[in-house]
Amino acid sequence: MNNWTIEDAEELYRVKRWGAGYFEIGENGNLKITPSQNNESLRIDFKSVIDEIRAEGIQFPVVVRFHDILRAQVAKLNQVFRDTISAAEYQGNYMGVYPVKVNQMREVVEEVVDAGEPFQFGLEAGSKAELLTVMAYNTNPGALTILNGYKDEEFMRLAFMGLLMGRRIIIVVEKFSELYTIAKLAKELGISPEIGLRAKMSVKGRGKWAGSAGDRAKFGLSTSELVAAVKYLKDEGLDERLKLLHFHIGSQLTDIRAIKDAITEGARIYAELRHLGANLEFVDVGGGLGIDYDGSASTNESSRNYSIKEYVGDIVYGMQEICDAEEVPHPNLVSESGRALTAHHSCVVTEVVSEIKPQGSQAIHTSDPDEHFIVSNMRELSENLEKYPNSQEVYNDAGDWKEQALNAFKLGVLNLEQLATVETLYWQIMQVIQTRLEKDEFVPEELKEIELQMASQYLGNFSVFQSAADTWAIDQILPVVPITRMNEKPTITCSIADITCDSDGKIDNFIGEDGISPTIKMHPLKPNEHYYVGLFLTGAYQDVMGDMHNLFGRLNEVHIFSYDDDPEDFYIEEIVRGSSVEHVLNIMQYHPKSMAQDVKRVIDKKIADGELKPRDGVKLIDFYEACLEGYTYLKTTS
Ligand SMILES: *Cc1c(COP(=O)(O)O)cnc(C)c1O
Repeated sequence: MNNWTIEDAEELYRVKRWGAGYFEIGENGNLKITPSQNNESLRIDFKSVIDEIRAEGIQFPVVVRFHDILRAQVAKLNQVFRDTISAAEYQGNYMGVYPVKVNQMREVVEEVVDAGEPFQFGLEAGSKAELLTVMAYNTNPGALTILNGYKDEEFMRLAFMGLLMGRRIIIVVEKFSELYTIAKLAKELGISPEIGLRAKMSVKGRGKWAGSAGDRAKFGLSTSELVAAVKYLKDEGLDERLKLLHFHIGSQLTDIRAIKDAITEGARIYAELRHLGANLEFVDVGGGLGIDYDGSASTNESSRNYSIKEYVGDIVYGMQEICDAEEVPHPNLVSESGRALTAHHSCVVTEVVSEIKPQGSQAIHTSDPDEHFIVSNMRELSENLEKYPNSQEVYNDAGDWKEQALNAFKLGVLNLEQLATVETLYWQIMQVIQTRLEKDEFVPEELKEIELQMASQYLGNFSVFQSAADTWAIDQILPVVPITRMNEKPTITCSIADITCDSDGKIDNFIGEDGISPTIKMHPLKPNEHYYVGLFLTGAYQDVMGDMHNLFGRLNEVHIFSYDDDPEDFYIEEIVRGSSVEHVLNIMQYHPKSMAQDVKRVIDKKIADGELKPRDGVKLIDFYEACLEGYTYLKTTS
């Protein structure tokens, strides 16, 4: 009966393809996680993680972080650079940094620093708050602290203070005038940080973040400014401090050709600056290493057409070739990959709390002899569909009758019950067309709408704005996958709506068989059985973008570590409670304490007037206060 296999599920959800070796579908149909590179026999059943979360009494939605994945990604990037450098006999080293803006959470930064310790892996900051963070947290001896972004004098003073703390700080100049501030502070304080120059590149990354480069990019120095900067630093006696050339052409670079072009352009600028007498030691290629969110390995905006190995290979060999031709030393290489390090390590798990069925599932009255002709026309169409093989024709006729029915209703010719019959019949006809279209090779554009109209909506206990801001803001595709039952054929076509009463609060961009689909296949909900869905690859940008939309605040969070000695086991190392209602209200300048007092005053009056029993009144007040202290999301534990 059920000839559905795990391979079919893999085909549909593409877990292996976006999972990068960390996620796969287990034989029992549950999602499995292989969080560690060193130990590939370690496999955690996601269902056991859910059970543990429930046992701890933690409410959903929950952010689940696999710290081992984060560590594995840091090690992987560094190892690939080391291996490539040694295979190429490249003369420089790799000294990467993690840009904290991608995920500023303390636990993430700490873990990256710790996992990067054997590699002298450093941190990058682009704002004052981030600088304060990296000064405290970049504890790896010898690792770089790279400072990008526009800097005021206070920012610069902080950077100089970092030097006194023994941090290896490189200030990257984004705007020529920043050089004046550096020179001024260097004179005043008698020390100077190392200096980098950001080049404005002509190569553009394609995709959503293409604005980071090109002639009108906000950041970086033009070629003439670069030349002037070298001269200025020489005049100020700071030329020995000029150490690094930086460029960054955008995030989520989908096409390897843009990377090759950028390396060529950057390497040429580096060589020319060396010829001008600048003793640059580092070339920093910025971020941009992409993630294959949709598992297509293509130049889709949500994908990339290269691997980490190819990315690193193009950097190392590309730089080597030009340096050798120009007879300049191979620089040490820096990259600022953020997305690639953090995206996989975290996901949001939510429970589907109910299904909103498409229209047309109601029963309809049987015909009566003097039925209005509009109703009987629609009925006839619906009862004789086999006579009309052309779906477009049926779609047009049914649409026509439905419109006529609505007009007749407005004129008082049809009553509400008759209109309802017409509409129900209409949706039933659409259902038949939908089943037909599933078998058709070619579907006319207009009829594609039907798929979405006839899809169920699965109502997830979460807020898209909070958990997956990019799917809402920039149509970023994130993989959505059921945590269990993938050994069963998923028969419900649905989109996913969240519990914010907002028409934007939905996910209707899914990985589809051929590109992007407005719906996804899920399993029918069963009474008394929880159905959990995961939203994956949320560790970069998503994690920290959630705003206070609809006053939902931060999510509950669990941090998972695996045991080395037990291949199936893991433990929840830390539980971070999400926002309480009181907390989010406070941020919005409400005063929950006085709100509770106001409510109490109203209820006390009702008691005094004899409209409420004192015992019941006290219960209501207690309940109101308990809700203020509680989690902002729906309680679904049954
Ligand atoms: C955002 C940013 C990064 C991180 O880019 P990813 O694509 O996440 O690796 C690196 N460097 C700079 C200057 C950035 O602005």
